[in-house]
Amino acid sequence: MTEFELIKRYFARPPKRALLGVGDDCALLRPDAGLDLAVTTDMLVEGRHFRPDADPRLLGHKALAVNLSDLAAMGATPRWATLALALPAADPAWLEPFAAGLHALAERYGIDLVGGDTTRGERLTISITAIGEVPPGMALERGAARAGDDVWVSGELGGAALALAHPEIASAAERLHAPEPRVELGERLRRLAHAAIDVSDGLAGDLGHILERSRLSARIEYARIPRPRAFQALTDPELEKNCVLSGGDDYELLFTAPQPHRAEIDALAAELKLALTRIGTLVPGDARLTVVDAGGQPLEHRGGYDHFGGR
Ligand code: ADP
Ligand code: MG
Repeated sequence: MTEFELIKRYFARPPKRALLGVGDDCALLRPDAGLDLAVTTDMLVEGRHFRPDADPRLLGHKALAVNLSDLAAMGATPRWATLALALPAADPAWLEPFAAGLHALAERYGIDLVGGDTTRGERLTISITAIGEVPPGMALERGAARAGDDVWVSGELGGAALALAHPEIASAAERLHAPEPRVELGERLRRLAHAAIDVSDGLAGDLGHILERSRLSARIEYARIPRPRAFQALTDPELEKNCVLSGGDDYELLFTAPQPHRAEIDALAAELKLALTRIGTLVPGDARLTVVDAGGQPLEHRGGYDHFGGR
Protein backbone atom coordinates (compact mmCIF):
# COMPACT_ATOMS: atom_id res chain seq x y z
CA MET A 1 0.00 0.00 0.00
CA THR A 2 1.44 3.41 -0.94
CA GLU A 3 1.06 6.48 1.28
CA PHE A 4 -1.63 7.84 -1.05
CA GLU A 5 -3.58 4.59 -1.18
CA LEU A 6 -3.50 4.51 2.60
CA ILE A 7 -4.84 8.07 2.89
CA LYS A 8 -7.53 7.45 0.28
CA ARG A 9 -8.64 4.14 1.77
CA TYR A 10 -8.78 5.10 5.44
CA PHE A 11 -8.99 8.84 5.81
CA ALA A 12 -10.36 10.59 2.71
CA ARG A 13 -14.11 11.10 3.17
CA PRO A 14 -16.24 13.59 1.23
CA PRO A 15 -16.57 16.64 3.48
CA LYS A 16 -20.00 17.82 4.58
CA ARG A 17 -19.20 21.42 5.48
CA ALA A 18 -15.68 22.08 4.28
CA LEU A 19 -15.33 23.68 0.82
CA LEU A 20 -12.44 21.31 0.14
CA GLY A 21 -11.29 18.31 2.18
CA VAL A 22 -8.52 15.71 1.86
CA GLY A 23 -6.55 15.59 -1.40
CA ASP A 24 -5.21 19.03 -2.21
CA ASP A 25 -2.37 21.10 -0.77
CA CYS A 26 -4.72 22.59 1.80
CA ALA A 27 -8.28 22.16 2.93
CA LEU A 28 -10.60 25.14 2.46
CA LEU A 29 -12.91 26.03 5.33
CA ARG A 30 -15.54 28.72 5.59
CA PRO A 31 -16.72 29.48 9.11
CA ASP A 32 -20.30 30.64 9.58
CA ALA A 33 -20.50 34.40 9.23
CA GLY A 34 -19.37 36.28 12.32
CA LEU A 35 -18.21 33.27 14.36
CA ASP A 36 -14.76 32.99 15.92
CA LEU A 37 -12.61 29.92 15.29
CA ALA A 38 -11.30 27.87 18.24
CA VAL A 39 -8.26 25.74 17.41
CA THR A 40 -6.64 23.01 19.49
CA THR A 41 -4.06 20.23 19.04
CA ASP A 42 -3.53 17.12 21.16
CA MET A 43 -0.99 14.40 20.58
CA LEU A 44 -1.01 10.77 21.74
CA VAL A 45 2.34 8.97 21.77
CA GLU A 46 2.81 5.21 22.09
CA GLY A 47 4.48 4.32 25.37
CA ARG A 48 3.55 7.68 26.83
CA HIS A 49 -0.23 7.91 26.44
CA PHE A 50 -1.11 4.35 25.43
CA ARG A 51 0.45 0.90 25.35
CA PRO A 52 1.62 -0.68 22.07
CA ASP A 53 -1.18 -3.26 22.30
CA ALA A 54 -3.95 -0.66 22.81
CA ASP A 55 -7.21 -1.35 20.94
CA PRO A 56 -6.91 0.68 17.69
CA ARG A 57 -10.64 1.43 17.49
CA LEU A 58 -10.59 2.97 20.96
CA LEU A 59 -7.42 4.89 20.09
CA GLY A 60 -9.12 6.41 17.05
CA HIS A 61 -12.00 7.46 19.29
CA LYS A 62 -9.81 8.79 22.07
CA ALA A 63 -7.42 10.74 19.80
CA LEU A 64 -10.36 12.78 18.53
CA ALA A 65 -12.24 12.79 21.85
CA VAL A 66 -9.45 14.56 23.74
CA ASN A 67 -9.47 17.33 21.14
CA LEU A 68 -13.26 17.67 21.21
CA SER A 69 -12.97 17.90 24.98
CA ASP A 70 -10.71 20.95 24.62
CA LEU A 71 -13.19 22.59 22.24
CA ALA A 72 -16.04 21.83 24.67
CA ALA A 73 -14.05 23.40 27.51
CA MET A 74 -13.90 26.56 25.41
CA GLY A 75 -17.62 26.50 24.63
CA ALA A 76 -16.88 25.87 20.94
CA THR A 77 -18.86 23.70 18.51
CA PRO A 78 -16.53 21.23 16.74
CA ARG A 79 -16.49 21.49 12.92
CA TRP A 80 -13.24 20.26 11.33
CA ALA A 81 -10.18 18.19 12.19
CA THR A 82 -6.82 17.25 10.72
CA LEU A 83 -4.81 14.14 11.56
CA ALA A 84 -1.02 13.76 11.61
CA LEU A 85 0.06 10.12 11.92
CA ALA A 86 3.48 8.55 12.36
CA LEU A 87 3.19 4.78 11.83
CA PRO A 88 5.79 2.02 12.21
CA ALA A 89 4.03 0.10 9.38
CA ALA A 90 0.99 0.44 7.08
CA ASP A 91 -0.94 -2.40 8.73
CA PRO A 92 -4.59 -2.68 7.59
CA ALA A 93 -5.44 -4.69 10.72
CA TRP A 94 -4.55 -1.59 12.74
CA LEU A 95 -5.57 1.18 10.31
CA GLU A 96 -9.07 -0.16 9.61
CA PRO A 97 -10.36 -0.13 13.22
CA PHE A 98 -8.40 3.03 14.07
CA ALA A 99 -10.06 4.91 11.20
CA ALA A 100 -13.46 3.42 12.11
CA GLY A 101 -13.22 4.65 15.73
CA LEU A 102 -12.18 8.12 14.59
CA HIS A 103 -14.79 8.46 11.84
CA ALA A 104 -17.57 7.18 14.12
CA LEU A 105 -16.98 9.94 16.66
CA ALA A 106 -16.48 12.56 13.93
CA GLU A 107 -19.79 11.61 12.32
CA ARG A 108 -21.67 11.87 15.60
CA TYR A 109 -20.86 15.56 15.69
CA GLY A 110 -20.81 16.29 11.94
CA ILE A 111 -17.07 16.93 11.95
CA ASP A 112 -15.12 16.76 8.67
CA LEU A 113 -11.64 15.23 8.66
CA VAL A 114 -10.18 17.67 6.15
CA GLY A 115 -6.50 16.82 5.96
CA GLY A 116 -3.39 15.70 7.73
CA ASP A 117 0.00 14.15 7.18
CA THR A 118 1.12 10.52 7.15
CA THR A 119 4.66 9.30 7.62
CA ARG A 120 6.59 6.27 8.75
CA GLY A 121 7.90 6.61 12.30
CA GLU A 122 9.47 4.38 14.96
CA ARG A 123 6.70 4.99 17.43
CA LEU A 124 3.04 5.30 16.73
CA THR A 125 2.21 9.00 17.18
CA ILE A 126 -1.23 10.47 16.62
CA SER A 127 -1.71 14.21 16.53
CA ILE A 128 -5.08 15.75 15.83
CA THR A 129 -5.92 19.40 15.36
CA ALA A 130 -9.57 20.24 15.85
CA ILE A 131 -11.24 23.47 14.82
CA GLY A 132 -14.52 24.72 16.22
CA GLU A 133 -16.74 27.78 16.10
CA VAL A 134 -17.89 30.02 18.91
CA PRO A 135 -19.86 33.28 18.89
CA PRO A 136 -17.65 36.33 19.54
CA GLY A 137 -17.07 37.01 23.24
CA MET A 138 -18.70 33.74 24.33
CA ALA A 139 -15.65 31.48 24.68
CA LEU A 140 -15.14 30.08 28.18
CA GLU A 141 -11.67 31.36 29.01
CA ARG A 142 -9.76 30.16 32.06
CA GLY A 143 -9.24 33.72 33.23
CA ALA A 144 -12.91 34.69 33.34
CA ALA A 145 -13.92 33.19 36.71
CA ARG A 146 -15.21 35.57 39.41
CA ALA A 147 -15.13 35.51 43.20
CA GLY A 148 -18.34 34.00 44.54
CA ASP A 149 -18.75 31.64 41.57
CA ASP A 150 -19.75 28.07 42.30
CA VAL A 151 -17.32 25.41 41.08
CA TRP A 152 -19.06 22.61 39.16
CA VAL A 153 -17.95 19.38 37.59
CA SER A 154 -19.69 17.11 35.08
CA GLY A 155 -19.93 13.33 35.46
CA GLU A 156 -17.52 11.65 37.84
CA LEU A 157 -13.83 12.13 38.57
CA GLY A 158 -11.17 9.52 39.29
CA GLY A 159 -12.40 6.67 37.09
CA ALA A 160 -9.62 6.88 34.49
CA ALA A 161 -6.91 6.97 37.16
CA LEU A 162 -8.58 4.08 38.98
CA ALA A 163 -8.25 2.02 35.79
CA LEU A 164 -4.47 2.43 35.89
CA ALA A 165 -4.38 0.93 39.41
CA HIS A 166 -7.18 -1.60 38.82
CA PRO A 167 -7.46 -2.44 35.12
CA GLU A 168 -9.87 -5.27 35.98
CA ILE A 169 -12.64 -2.77 36.90
CA ALA A 170 -14.52 -2.57 33.59
CA SER A 171 -16.38 0.70 34.24
CA ALA A 172 -13.09 2.41 35.10
CA ALA A 173 -11.31 0.97 32.05
CA GLU A 174 -14.09 2.39 29.90
CA ARG A 175 -13.45 5.86 31.32
CA LEU A 176 -9.75 5.59 30.54
CA HIS A 177 -9.98 4.14 27.05
CA ALA A 178 -13.24 5.56 25.72
CA PRO A 179 -13.73 9.04 27.21
CA GLU A 180 -16.87 10.94 26.19
CA PRO A 181 -16.17 14.55 25.17
CA ARG A 182 -18.81 16.82 26.76
CA VAL A 183 -19.58 18.62 23.51
CA GLU A 184 -23.24 19.54 24.13
CA LEU A 185 -22.48 20.64 27.67
CA GLY A 186 -19.69 22.95 26.48
CA GLU A 187 -22.02 24.62 23.98
CA ARG A 188 -24.76 25.12 26.57
CA LEU A 189 -22.35 26.50 29.17
CA ARG A 190 -21.53 29.50 26.97
CA ARG A 191 -24.52 31.29 28.46
CA LEU A 192 -24.25 29.90 31.97
CA ALA A 193 -20.59 29.65 32.98
CA HIS A 194 -17.79 32.17 33.41
CA ALA A 195 -14.75 29.87 33.04
CA ALA A 196 -14.23 26.23 32.11
CA ILE A 197 -11.47 23.66 31.63
CA ASP A 198 -11.54 19.96 30.85
CA VAL A 199 -10.08 17.63 33.46
CA SER A 200 -7.15 16.00 31.67
CA ASP A 201 -4.46 16.33 34.34
CA GLY A 202 -6.56 15.99 37.50
CA LEU A 203 -8.96 18.27 39.36
CA ALA A 204 -6.30 19.91 41.53
CA GLY A 205 -4.02 20.74 38.61
CA ASP A 206 -6.73 21.82 36.20
CA LEU A 207 -8.67 23.91 38.71
CA GLY A 208 -5.27 25.41 39.56
CA HIS A 209 -5.06 26.76 36.00
CA ILE A 210 -8.39 28.57 36.40
CA LEU A 211 -7.29 29.95 39.77
CA GLU A 212 -3.99 31.25 38.42
CA ARG A 213 -5.49 32.84 35.35
CA SER A 214 -8.45 34.30 37.24
CA ARG A 215 -6.34 35.30 40.28
CA LEU A 216 -8.70 33.65 42.73
CA SER A 217 -8.65 30.91 45.36
CA ALA A 218 -11.05 28.00 45.77
CA ARG A 219 -12.55 26.01 48.58
CA ILE A 220 -13.58 22.53 47.46
CA GLU A 221 -15.57 20.06 49.57
CA TYR A 222 -13.96 16.68 49.00
CA ALA A 223 -17.07 14.68 49.93
CA ARG A 224 -19.12 16.45 47.26
CA ILE A 225 -16.87 15.42 44.37
CA PRO A 226 -18.74 12.75 42.38
CA ARG A 227 -16.74 9.54 41.90
CA PRO A 228 -17.32 6.01 40.61
CA ARG A 229 -19.10 3.59 42.95
CA ALA A 230 -16.23 1.16 42.49
CA PHE A 231 -14.28 3.11 45.13
CA GLN A 232 -16.76 2.03 47.84
CA ALA A 233 -15.83 -1.63 47.53
CA LEU A 234 -12.08 -0.93 47.43
CA THR A 235 -11.93 0.86 50.80
CA ASP A 236 -8.59 2.43 49.94
CA PRO A 237 -9.04 6.08 50.95
CA GLU A 238 -5.53 7.13 49.89
CA LEU A 239 -5.93 5.69 46.37
CA GLU A 240 -9.41 7.20 46.16
CA LYS A 241 -8.17 10.64 47.12
CA ASN A 242 -5.29 10.49 44.63
CA CYS A 243 -7.60 9.39 41.83
CA VAL A 244 -10.38 11.88 42.59
CA LEU A 245 -8.20 14.95 43.23
CA SER A 246 -5.13 14.29 41.12
CA GLY A 247 -6.02 11.59 38.58
CA GLY A 248 -6.05 12.66 34.94
CA ASP A 249 -7.75 11.56 31.73
CA ASP A 250 -11.40 11.83 32.85
CA TYR A 251 -12.20 14.56 30.31
CA GLU A 252 -15.08 15.92 32.34
CA LEU A 253 -15.74 19.66 32.33
CA LEU A 254 -14.85 21.71 35.38
CA PHE A 255 -16.53 25.10 35.28
CA THR A 256 -17.37 28.11 37.39
CA ALA A 257 -20.73 29.86 37.29
CA PRO A 258 -22.50 32.62 39.17
CA GLN A 259 -24.78 31.39 41.99
CA PRO A 260 -28.00 32.72 40.38
CA HIS A 261 -27.48 30.16 37.59
CA ARG A 262 -27.80 27.14 39.91
CA ALA A 263 -31.36 26.24 38.96
CA GLU A 264 -30.63 26.55 35.23
CA ILE A 265 -27.55 24.35 35.54
CA ASP A 266 -29.55 21.74 37.46
CA ALA A 267 -32.17 21.83 34.70
CA LEU A 268 -29.44 21.44 32.08
CA ALA A 269 -28.11 18.36 33.90
CA ALA A 270 -31.57 16.79 33.75
CA GLU A 271 -31.95 17.67 30.09
CA LEU A 272 -28.53 16.30 29.08
CA LYS A 273 -28.88 13.30 31.44
CA LEU A 274 -25.43 14.15 32.74
CA ALA A 275 -24.65 14.75 36.42
CA LEU A 276 -23.55 18.33 37.11
CA THR A 277 -22.36 18.70 40.67
CA ARG A 278 -21.50 21.78 42.70
CA ILE A 279 -18.27 20.97 44.56
CA GLY A 280 -17.15 24.30 46.01
CA THR A 281 -16.77 28.05 45.70
CA LEU A 282 -14.29 30.61 44.42
CA VAL A 283 -13.05 33.14 46.95
CA PRO A 284 -10.69 36.12 46.73
CA GLY A 285 -7.03 35.16 47.13
CA ASP A 286 -3.90 34.20 45.30
CA ALA A 287 -4.57 30.91 43.49
CA ARG A 288 -4.74 28.77 46.63
CA LEU A 289 -6.74 25.56 46.39
CA THR A 290 -8.14 24.37 49.71
CA VAL A 291 -9.81 20.98 49.76
CA VAL A 292 -11.73 20.31 52.97
CA ASP A 293 -13.08 17.06 54.41
CA ALA A 294 -16.61 16.59 55.74
CA GLY A 295 -15.58 18.18 59.05
CA GLY A 296 -14.21 21.29 57.30
CA GLN A 297 -10.58 20.28 57.91
CA PRO A 298 -8.07 20.87 55.07
CA LEU A 299 -6.94 17.73 53.20
CA GLU A 300 -3.42 17.25 51.88
CA HIS A 301 -3.24 16.47 48.17
CA ARG A 302 -0.64 15.92 45.45
CA GLY A 303 -1.73 18.48 42.90
CA GLY A 304 -2.08 17.60 39.22
CA TYR A 305 -0.12 15.69 36.62
CA ASP A 306 2.78 17.23 34.74
CA HIS A 307 4.41 15.51 31.75
CA PHE A 308 7.88 16.66 32.72
CA GLY A 309 7.59 16.84 36.52
CA GLY A 310 5.79 13.51 36.98
CA ARG A 311 3.36 13.02 39.80
P1 ADP B 1 1.44 17.46 0.99
O1 ADP B 1 2.50 16.81 0.14
O2 ADP B 1 0.81 18.67 0.37
O3 ADP B 1 1.86 17.61 2.41
P2 ADP B 1 0.36 14.90 1.40
O4 ADP B 1 0.86 14.17 0.22
O5 ADP B 1 1.09 14.78 2.69
O6 ADP B 1 0.23 16.43 0.98
O7 ADP B 1 -1.17 14.54 1.65
C1 ADP B 1 -2.06 14.44 0.59
C2 ADP B 1 -3.43 14.86 1.06
O8 ADP B 1 -3.88 13.94 2.05
C3 ADP B 1 -3.46 16.23 1.71
O9 ADP B 1 -4.70 16.82 1.38
C4 ADP B 1 -3.40 15.92 3.18
O10 ADP B 1 -4.05 16.92 3.93
C5 ADP B 1 -4.14 14.60 3.26
N1 ADP B 1 -3.70 13.71 4.33
C6 ADP B 1 -2.48 13.18 4.53
N2 ADP B 1 -2.45 12.37 5.60
C7 ADP B 1 -3.70 12.36 6.10
C8 ADP B 1 -4.34 11.72 7.19
N3 ADP B 1 -3.68 10.90 8.02
N4 ADP B 1 -5.64 11.97 7.42
C9 ADP B 1 -6.31 12.81 6.62
N5 ADP B 1 -5.80 13.43 5.57
C10 ADP B 1 -4.51 13.22 5.29
MG1 MG C 1 2.37 15.98 3.76
